[in-house]
Amino acid sequence: MNHIAHWIGGAERAGESGRVGPVFNPATGSQIASVDLASADEVAAAVAVAKEAAKAWREASLSKRSAVLFKFRELLAANVGELAKIVTTEHGKVLADAAGEVARGLENVEFATGIPHLMKGSFSEQAATSVDVYSIRQPLGVVAGITPFNFPAMVPLWMCATAIAAGNAFVLKPSEKDPSAALFLAKLWKEAGLPDGVFNVVHGDKEAVDAILVHPDIAAVSFVGSTPIAKYIYETGTSHGKRVQALGGAKNHMIVLPDAELDAAADAAISAGYGAAGERCMAISVVVAVGDIADPLVEAIAARLPKIKIGDGADPSSEMGPLISAQHRDKVTGYIEAGAQAGAKVVADGRELADQPGYFLGATLLDNVTPEMTVYTDEIFGPVLSVVRVETYAEAVELVNNNEYGNGTAIFTRDGGAARQFQFDVNAGMVGVNVPIPVPVAYYSFGGWKASLFGDTHMYGPDGIHFFTRSKVVTSRWPDPGTSSVDLGFPQTR
Ligand code: NAD
Repeated sequence: MNHIAHWIGGAERAGESGRVGPVFNPATGSQIASVDLASADEVAAAVAVAKEAAKAWREASLSKRSAVLFKFRELLAANVGELAKIVTTEHGKVLADAAGEVARGLENVEFATGIPHLMKGSFSEQAATSVDVYSIRQPLGVVAGITPFNFPAMVPLWMCATAIAAGNAFVLKPSEKDPSAALFLAKLWKEAGLPDGVFNVVHGDKEAVDAILVHPDIAAVSFVGSTPIAKYIYETGTSHGKRVQALGGAKNHMIVLPDAELDAAADAAISAGYGAAGERCMAISVVVAVGDIADPLVEAIAARLPKIKIGDGADPSSEMGPLISAQHRDKVTGYIEAGAQAGAKVVADGRELADQPGYFLGATLLDNVTPEMTVYTDEIFGPVLSVVRVETYAEAVELVNNNEYGNGTAIFTRDGGAARQFQFDVNAGMVGVNVPIPVPVAYYSFGGWKASLFGDTHMYGPDGIHFFTRSKVVTSRWPDPGTSSVDLGFPQTR
């Protein structure tokens, strides 16, 4: 059986904690590897290596750093298929979807190749007589990323491309459920010429995470995962003096106004609801049908469900793969049961697939869902789409705004004025207009509101540069010799 080790100082390093975790192929349900789980001492060893490497890396010129990023970009682009296979084997998502996640991660690398431009400060000549003022941005030192199972390649790339380009050393703690993508990235970084120790991977669970959160030499922690853990990471990390951005879970609503193009809305609901078996933080989990579009919309979605080809993600004809684990599949089936018991109408029941080998569950559609049902209140993270029926636009917006989460949301309409009003009214960080999964392109930033994000900077893009650097403002004067005098007054600029 494959054994997955840490990556520290530019080479694999076998774990010494004596603790390992199992890694499964969700399509078969069989264990395919074991992964080392780091102790606090092993995390400290990685941080020590990163600290040394960070000193030299921040001195590397911007053009040298950019060159490494360009090379990494080329290697990643050449290996999309290979990395996608790794993702599919351990995560379960279908190959095309895995390749899609790598492609979106690649965009973040491309953004980071522009680091010489992104690190530019500003300069004010003659702020006072003979005085110039300028700002510069500098790296933080050692920074850490803690990532979820559902995007084992893309989310680490969201973080490490920017962090490394900005001159930091990076310690990644990937999900222990699908850890191999992180190691693959580590090898590509090395091949791209990144100095050893600038990118490190420590595998692990809570023990490793806790060690990161309290380590005095880690300046910042970027986290993506579920809301309770995000809150814990934010509170613990900040109380130990760290800069923290912690992105949490979601419950993304898709509002369909009565004038929406019915087929486009139904297609979008299917794609965004069941893609990656609903295991996306930007998945649509609630369709809010406004007015009399509800009946035809539910009918159109239901008609498309039998056509979804569910199977092993490695089979190129599959459109939807299994869930990540048996426990998670059982949790999702529990929600379907709870929804049915609470009075939701089960239009399509995916539980019939739950008995076959692997962690499969069919696409499930629940109609007449109401806001107090757990299928509505909780993030299910599975192929379960709930339809809530409302009479007016105002009720629809109120529903979204009263929800605990505020990651993404979308509106489907042909009315530009209604869409613009929605963008103005809605409390969510990412909004789609006739776009069901509005993940921002790499030169914007990704982040939700409310319980979907703890901290104040979003991920990647301009916010990512901001998060992984700190600013310094220099006030400078080059006086003529002999012109200085003592002045105890507070410095003035006029
Ligand atoms: P998770 O919170 O269980 O795990 C995320 C990371 O935290 C992993 O590396 C894990 O090892 C670690 N972790 C888990 N339990 C911990 C604990 N008790 N103490 C310390 N560390 C712990 O999340 P997951 O199940 O891997 O991923 C799915 C979740 O991530 C969903 O809620 C999804 O919405 C969310 N997510 C959010 C975004 C976003 O951008 N907002 C993106 C992807 C996923």
